[in-house]
Amino acid sequence: MVNKLSIDPAGLTIPNEIGVKKLVSKEEFIEACSSSNNILNQSLGSNLVIPDFQEFSKELKNLFHELSDFKGGKNADYIPQLSRADPNLWAISVCTIDGQRFSVGDTNIPFCIQSCCKALNYAINVSEIGADAVHLHLGKEPSGIGFNQIALDKHGLPHNPMINPGAISCCSVIRPQDTLADRFDHITQQYKTMAGNEFVGFSNATFLSEKSVADRNFAIAYFLHEHNVFPKGTNLKETLDLYFQLCSVETTCDSGSVICATLANGGECPTSREVCLSPDAVRNTLSLMFSCGMYDYSGEWSFEVGFPAKSGVAGSIFIVIPGVMGICVWSPPLDELGNSYRGVEFAKRLAQKFAFHQFDNIQGNQTKMDPRRNPKSESKEIQILNLISAANNRDMVLLHKYFEIGIDFNICDYDNRTPLHLAVAADHLTVVRFLVEKAKVNVNPIDRMRTTPMDEALRSGSHAECTNQEVIKYLRKKGAKTCEQLLMAASVQY
Ligand code: GLU
Repeated sequence: MVNKLSIDPAGLTIPNEIGVKKLVSKEEFIEACSSSNNILNQSLGSNLVIPDFQEFSKELKNLFHELSDFKGGKNADYIPQLSRADPNLWAISVCTIDGQRFSVGDTNIPFCIQSCCKALNYAINVSEIGADAVHLHLGKEPSGIGFNQIALDKHGLPHNPMINPGAISCCSVIRPQDTLADRFDHITQQYKTMAGNEFVGFSNATFLSEKSVADRNFAIAYFLHEHNVFPKGTNLKETLDLYFQLCSVETTCDSGSVICATLANGGECPTSREVCLSPDAVRNTLSLMFSCGMYDYSGEWSFEVGFPAKSGVAGSIFIVIPGVMGICVWSPPLDELGNSYRGVEFAKRLAQKFAFHQFDNIQGNQTKMDPRRNPKSESKEIQILNLISAANNRDMVLLHKYFEIGIDFNICDYDNRTPLHLAVAADHLTVVRFLVEKAKVNVNPIDRMRTTPMDEALRSGSHAECTNQEVIKYLRKKGAKTCEQLLMAASVQY
């Protein structure tokens, strides 16, 4: 299956099993063109979230080289597996929500995700059982104290899932009725799906070491148990084992970047197009990564850098630029707060150069570069095409972007088809609601075939499965009519 197609000056290339690029064969080319990801079609239409990806990659490569000499910090040394890592290892991988990839440095060497698993476990839990159920056992507040302090918030719960007490509590919530083996299998399978089936491994040596020096984590777990934080019947030792095991899961920088891109893309993996997480789970996870993801540097990070991230003591940082891309950086030496020394500097320089801080666009900050597609500069024809296809593909990010710049959502194509026609035809109730309530579109536009959105809804409802009943009900409530009803009403009035 070809899912990592890329276009570079050497021609059309894909990475083979061992990561070496080669020119694609005719068969592979045809398969790539017909895959659902269809990056080719999008590339040719300049319709990717970062249209000039080569230019953007060049900037990243420069940052990588600049930081190669930026030496400092110290490997984590509480277990030998981390202290022995080569401190010169340095890697940056990027995966955009369209599946564009960039890698530089040691991007194929496995490392343990350590605390980065905390964000993923929380996301999976919320996606599976909902935020309310998860938050019976942990809070949402930054703690203001060290990641492994023995403490609870004012509600008697661990502060948040990004530090040890909350992360251990989060593990207690993962499928508690299953065996430890099944729970581990389940979560690692979820990681793998988020990574688009790229590398996810396990370091047994790290797990054994973690377990052998875990006095503090045992103390935290007993403290949580004493305060009835865990679900009833929780096996404390198994919960800790699961926590140590998930910290010992390995990714590479490349596969880590796809996981981050899945978060950036609202839970759908950009390379496999598999939906892994609910949009709510992603939103909650990104909020907590933004406020609590970087140990005791979290406040400064959200102020200065300004995008969601989670770091781990093996020297990785999982970075998410929502609606744009996932970035994984890895360099083992840590600063005094436990974050990758080079990784933090990379993020700072990235945020200085590009308008990726969540609030950069409020300032209309033109001193920074923005490699994202800019709908404002598109021609009217392209806007129509993009809007219509965004409505058809449930691309909420793009729809919001167009909304923010004040584009009229009543625009139509040469057949007089509007975004609403398309959203209804595809049964995307979320898009329909957005168009009607937020963009305030006319609910009764008539296309060249004399079809209104209501006709469209009724037409697709007459197929075997009436999955669009909700759309019909909604449109009816909003005063939508069939073309015949409209014409009749007009003739009566006349
Ligand atoms: N395994 C580590 C611990 O719980 C995770 C450390 C981290 O990455 O923050 O102590």
